[in-house]
Amino acid sequence: MDLVIARPEGLYCPPGDFYIDPWRPVERAVITHGHGDHARGGSVRYLAAAPGEGILRARLGADIDLQTLPYGASLDHHGVRLSFHPAGHVLGSAQVRLEYQGEVWVASGDYKVEADGTCTPFEPVRCHTFITESTFGLPIYRWQPQAEIFAGIDAWWRQNQAEGRASVLFCYAFGKAQRILHGIDASIGPILAHGSVEPLNQVYREGGVRLPATQYAGDFKKADPALRQALILAPPSAGGSTWMRRFGEYSDAFASGWMMLRGTRRRRGVDRGFVLSDHADWPGLLWAIEQTGAERVMVTHGSVNVLVRYLRERGLDAQGFATEYGDDEESEDPKQEVDAG
Ligand SMILES: [Zn+2]
Ligand SMILES: [Zn+2]
Repeated sequence: MDLVIARPEGLYCPPGDFYIDPWRPVERAVITHGHGDHARGGSVRYLAAAPGEGILRARLGADIDLQTLPYGASLDHHGVRLSFHPAGHVLGSAQVRLEYQGEVWVASGDYKVEADGTCTPFEPVRCHTFITESTFGLPIYRWQPQAEIFAGIDAWWRQNQAEGRASVLFCYAFGKAQRILHGIDASIGPILAHGSVEPLNQVYREGGVRLPATQYAGDFKKADPALRQALILAPPSAGGSTWMRRFGEYSDAFASGWMMLRGTRRRRGVDRGFVLSDHADWPGLLWAIEQTGAERVMVTHGSVNVLVRYLRERGLDAQGFATEYGDDEESEDPKQEVDAG
């Protein structure tokens, strides 16, 4: 029996009568993580992994009806045993394991197999059927070691300082920004955050993640000499806005897995691109799929057909799963973009 099927509202578990990351409001929503395309408002009841509580309340409202479970703990619902396991994507991100009458399914949500120090590392979970994402499911996507990426960001920041320019780094406000903060050399200079980034830094700190001190960029007056020494983290939507005027002369850069494609950096019109992703690259996806031992793989997000074909050639029962998940490396939840100083 299929423990998860695609319905217009989202991925649905028939025996358990609940949805995973529904894109329409439902009665019972199990949430893998707080990115806008996975955690949507309006559902009656929510269930998520405990480390994600702060993020979900910050994004969906403090008063949502939210039940949480620690990683690895399970609960039974209509005979379906459900548990959350770390997905290594962002703070609180989880894979959902479902067991019913001896059948085990795992829905990965978004995941990354390389540990990054800002969330619990990915843990493979054995299952019969694995629902995997494939945001970067093409053989061209292979990430450099993250230490090299951070060294590159540090060098760019130092160079700008030496030339008297601010360093504006565009990145997704939830997850990517905190990972950059954790990875860079904070002794280089002051670090400023856009008003949509700083509240999420705070949630991470409250969740026990060590991040260097940051200041609100909005507190700085135009031409403040500190700006020319600073690294500024801002969401992509701040680019080209009046908010940028305070920095005077600056160099800008963008951090995303899509920066592997030269066209993306050109389209963004930034000076530099840093290839830093919170998703598994091609070898990471194949490794994770193999680790599950699954005979059946359902593929969502991104390059579905390429990964499906590859897995079928290797004898797996693979198929695409139609979902409405977006792309958290490129786009942003418009609600988070409204100018927040
Ligand atoms: Zn995500
Ligand atoms: Zn996603």
